Amino acid sequence: MENTTKSSRIGGFHKLGIAQRVAAVAAFAGLDEGDQAHLLNTGNLPAETADHLIENFVGTMNIPVGIATNMKIDGRDRLIPMATEESSVVAAVCNAARQCYDSGGFITSMSGSLMIAQIQLVDVPDPQHARIEILERRDRIRELCDACDPLLVRHGGGFRDLEVRVIQTAGGVMVITHLVVDTRDAMGANAVNTMAEKIAPMIAGWTNGRSNLRILSNLADRRLARARCVWRTADIGGEAVRDGMLSAYHFADADPYRAATHNKGVMNGIDAVVLATGNDTRAVEAGAHAYAARHGHYGSLTRWETTTSGDLAGVIEVPMAVGLIGGATKLHPTAKMALKILDVQSADELARIIAAVGLAQNFSAIKALATTGIQKGHMALHSQNIAMMAGAVGDEIDTLARLLVEKGSVRLDLAQAELTRLRAG
Ligand code: NAD
Repeated sequence: MENTTKSSRIGGFHKLGIAQRVAAVAAFAGLDEGDQAHLLNTGNLPAETADHLIENFVGTMNIPVGIATNMKIDGRDRLIPMATEESSVVAAVCNAARQCYDSGGFITSMSGSLMIAQIQLVDVPDPQHARIEILERRDRIRELCDACDPLLVRHGGGFRDLEVRVIQTAGGVMVITHLVVDTRDAMGANAVNTMAEKIAPMIAGWTNGRSNLRILSNLADRRLARARCVWRTADIGGEAVRDGMLSAYHFADADPYRAATHNKGVMNGIDAVVLATGNDTRAVEAGAHAYAARHGHYGSLTRWETTTSGDLAGVIEVPMAVGLIGGATKLHPTAKMALKILDVQSADELARIIAAVGLAQNFSAIKALATTGIQKGHMALHSQNIAMMAGAVGDEIDTLARLLVEKGSVRLDLAQAELTRLRAG
């Protein structure tokens, strides 16, 4: 019988100590002492730090961090920490990077470090008039924004531009103000949200409108990270491989069903570095997908073409709102370690590296798909997960995984049967 007395209404849960919270969850969910000890073992993220990062903290979720090797970016060799639970993601970057290492690696650039905060005005009597009235006060708005964050200004950032749009919506006409702010080495969400909240009541007063939302846009299209790379056709397996990859790209760019998966592959690489460095994966994901659909059609985040010499050239251009300061970047010890391994001096440098990783990931995905298929490489690694799921431990994991790959069938039922056979000797 289901225990109907259980209640999720736990008043003051956030005020409890960590152990007390775990005990409350244990009582609710029937966790034994071992389960509670597991939650309380927070590994290399001190519980006290984690408790300050989020609310109602009870434990940590470890994600493996792997190192992508072979990466040469703007002439410099880099080791790249990637946090991901998915097999093949790190290997894909290593492989793509190995195949372009001798021909020069990746070249990157950045459009800037500008973020946009939006202020929504509704019930504005004369929207077009209001638009101009707001634009006339650009200098005053600059002063007010910069006064919100003197530290940011000291680091070379602050207000840069003002844009006002009148948009038609199902809820009537709205006047949307954009504060364009250079957030330098910060991702900048908190920084620009503070400015938007400060400016909104004034704008509403000047225009006799009513301010509603005041929040950054994750479509960070003034903060585009770009990477390009040429893979020599001879280094990637010849013209048939190159043409198959180009065809894969054309498919993705024409068909949103394919583009979603194509871009998911790109984000496998991007998210892993964003996460490893303590940055906001959701912000980067939202920006990337919105950018991929910016022309009203959801397409590929990458572009592929044949060079005049017949080689394969790939490019990526993607919003990359990441920072070296703010959020978890400076607080999470593993994020700090990742930044140390990367040895980046600015958010701009980090963003450009992440774009190169996204391009590398895409190269490997479309190459595998256009040649042997994704399962061959994937299954070799996935077989280890299946072996563990079947109950293999220690040396058994590798032995069983190899056996499954040799048999060409990486299935849980088969793994269980093979494990029983192995153990029987
Ligand atoms: P933050 O406010 O913690 O840090 C940024 C501040 O650091 C700046 O405002 C500035 O005062 C200071 N600073 C010191 N040195 C600097 C330098 N060299 N360059 C720039 N600033 C410097 O963080 P943030 O970057 O404003 O916000 C990031 C956090 O906001 C993330 O945790 C993110 O998850 C969260 N967030 C995201 C969204 C969203 O994406 N929609 C919304 C709200 C909050």
